[in-house]
Amino acid sequence: MKTIGLIGGMSWESSSEYYRIINEAVKAKLGGLHSAKCILYSVDFAEVEILQRQNRWSDAAEILIGAAKSLENGGADFLIICANTMHKVADDIQAQVRIPLLHIADVTAKQVKQAGIRKVGLLGTRYTMEEDFYTKRLRDKFTLDVLIPNAEDRQFVNQVIFDELVLGKICQSSKRQFIHIIERLVNKGAEGIILGCTEIGLLIKDEDCRVPIFDTTKIHALAAVDYSLSG
Ligand code: GLU
Repeated sequence: MKTIGLIGGMSWESSSEYYRIINEAVKAKLGGLHSAKCILYSVDFAEVEILQRQNRWSDAAEILIGAAKSLENGGADFLIICANTMHKVADDIQAQVRIPLLHIADVTAKQVKQAGIRKVGLLGTRYTMEEDFYTKRLRDKFTLDVLIPNAEDRQFVNQVIFDELVLGKICQSSKRQFIHIIERLVNKGAEGIILGCTEIGLLIKDEDCRVPIFDTTKIHALAAVDYSLSG
């Protein structure tokens, strides 16, 4: 079993989901008393979030590069960044370590394609929805057609992520709004929805939508388990 290096804390609400999903999957696959070999480096999200807001991405990358190097030195065989947004600097992190980084958009896009879906809606932070580091990768590398919500809906989704979900607040009124936003994407042709922020799965579940949901937290955590257990 390979040791998974988790760069977490963005936010810890979703990192704890990663930890649970990873261990449950290893237990289901190997049985008995088996659990995952993993190391979690959990950053202080306040330090990262302010750098995101100030557009200081290389400073934010430095924090994650420090975490990645610690994980590598600590014995991790590969890395996952437990967030979508910070994949904006995934290449910078990969360039500073020798162990591979399992990209959240790649493992998600593979699942979307496997489901036979071509046009997919994307929810996430404003960075993930509006900048091209994520949508361009889905489009260019996986030939997916990516739909994002309108400006007002994007603003709402982003606000709920930063004012509620990363703080562990689950509000039914926000959930209802998210369902409306998803419905608008489906009406525009989305055949599936990527929950492209690792906390959205705390709010939106499969049964809330009439099209398939691709929860990046679940997909990424399970992909890490598959890689960890692969030859
Ligand atoms: N967990 C988040 C994500 O998946 C949002 C927090 C952040 O801005 O890093 O993008």
